[in-house]
Amino acid sequence: MNTQQYIIDAKGIVKTYGLIPVIRGVTLQVNRGEIFGLVGPSGSGKSTLLELLMGIRQADEGDIQMLGMDMKKDARKLHHRIGFQLQATVLFERIKVMEALQLFRSYYKKRRDLNEIITMLKLKPFLNQYVRHLSESIQQRVALAIALVNDPDIVFLDEPSAGMDDPRAIDDMWSIIAKLQDEGKTFVMTTQSLDEALEHCDRLAFLMNGTLSMCITSQELMHKLPAGTRTLNEMYAHLAVHRRKGESA
Ligand code: ADP
Ligand code: MG
Repeated sequence: MNTQQYIIDAKGIVKTYGLIPVIRGVTLQVNRGEIFGLVGPSGSGKSTLLELLMGIRQADEGDIQMLGMDMKKDARKLHHRIGFQLQATVLFERIKVMEALQLFRSYYKKRRDLNEIITMLKLKPFLNQYVRHLSESIQQRVALAIALVNDPDIVFLDEPSAGMDDPRAIDDMWSIIAKLQDEGKTFVMTTQSLDEALEHCDRLAFLMNGTLSMCITSQELMHKLPAGTRTLNEMYAHLAVHRRKGESA
């Protein structure tokens, strides 16, 4: 039995590209079954950190335990237990939706029923179309479908609503994520939107220049912020004023 307290336990993660440190000693824990949001502006290191947690990139320093396993020693086993949706869909843009689903599904031993995934993500009308011909909203849905083909315990999503301009499509996506959370799945996602993070994530970690500044539940953060705080800049400005006054915000 897995008695591990956290589903992800990452300590002291450092990643440097050439001489430039991009992730500067990040420590974070994710609880089983939560939706965990990494929030930060463009260039703050969200994608890099997500890719380190997914095992797509190797950290220079630090230690990542996931599902009770060690990221370095058990990379292969872990790969089968996680699903991911990357920011760039270029990998599969030259194939059709059904082909992409079947291709990615063929990599795994454990597989979720494909018809169920297609129904859940309302992809039936698009199965025979090239991914690159679809709108960004539908591409994001395809990417989420691909993240689910191996019925993973943890799903990583890199800015899942980026490029979606239809609020209904975004709501739809979030209701699918909520349904999967009810099944017991854990989500780690990135976003640049404070609003979206507060509304949909259980817990948030704020990333700035490769450093985590705050890890907090959405509920707690909402209590700290004045009503109507909508952007990351407004939030940082508010917290900075309180720090200057010596308050705990
Ligand atoms: P975010 O997802 O928050 O926009 P990224 O993780 O993509 O941030 O990038 C963080 C920083 O690392 C940026 O300054 C970016 O230019 C740099 N970076 C990302 N990937 C690479 C790479 N493969 N080589 C060199 N620099 C990179
Ligand atoms: Mg990114």
